Amino acid sequence: MILIKSKKDIDYIRESCKIVAETLQLVKAHAKVGISTAELDKIAEDYILSNNAYPAFKGYSQGGSPAFPATICASVDNEVVHGIPSERMLKDGEILSIDIGVVKNKYYGDAAITTAIGKISIDKQKLMDVTEKSLYLGIEAVKPGARLHDISYAIQEYVESNGYSIVRDLCGHGVGKHLHEDPQIPNYGKKNSGPLLKDGMTLAIEPMVNLGKYNVKVAADDWTVVTKDNTPSAHFEHTIAIINGKAEILTVS
Ligand code: MG
Repeated sequence: MILIKSKKDIDYIRESCKIVAETLQLVKAHAKVGISTAELDKIAEDYILSNNAYPAFKGYSQGGSPAFPATICASVDNEVVHGIPSERMLKDGEILSIDIGVVKNKYYGDAAITTAIGKISIDKQKLMDVTEKSLYLGIEAVKPGARLHDISYAIQEYVESNGYSIVRDLCGHGVGKHLHEDPQIPNYGKKNSGPLLKDGMTLAIEPMVNLGKYNVKVAADDWTVVTKDNTPSAHFEHTIAIINGKAEILTVS
């Protein structure tokens, strides 16, 4: 069941989302050659706690997986999502996907960006650009009378027309009163299908795009999702609210 939020609910979600966006920008500013993802995690956690909010991923568990041990997901190069921060230091030429969830006043926000570490290849830059653009095209597909998979179609169409693959095993989701709510939002699908989009829906839209094939697998740590062919992957995500038939991006600072 897709939860419809009131204006008051959305105001609370917006507050959590603002902290998510600010934390992402802070982490991005520190994501340089030589810093470890564990250090980035500490920076994020300190900032979130200083806003009287809590990291939503820390301790999160799904389908019998171990509890996620950190505040941010930090996924480098061939890691798609759910990378666990570690002492490993970032190197020149890598791309880092940072995913952050925040809960405040029992309301959740969720967003992700991918950022360059030092000087990256043209291939990686284009992968990031296409992934980010596909997110905005998905968001623009939210219109009065549109259906959920219009978002999916817009993302898939753009990604595949650029020669990349959209990950199929993972998808976006409703968000707000819980970290993960209905509906699941696949990043591929048919136009004019799926539930009708309605005012008061709050959705986390999150294309994950691979340079090679779309196949992924879970690493031995039970969390990190990696590409099967070892090619790099990028991830961008926003939480949006549907208001007057249009998407308002909530994860902005
Ligand atoms: Mg998400």
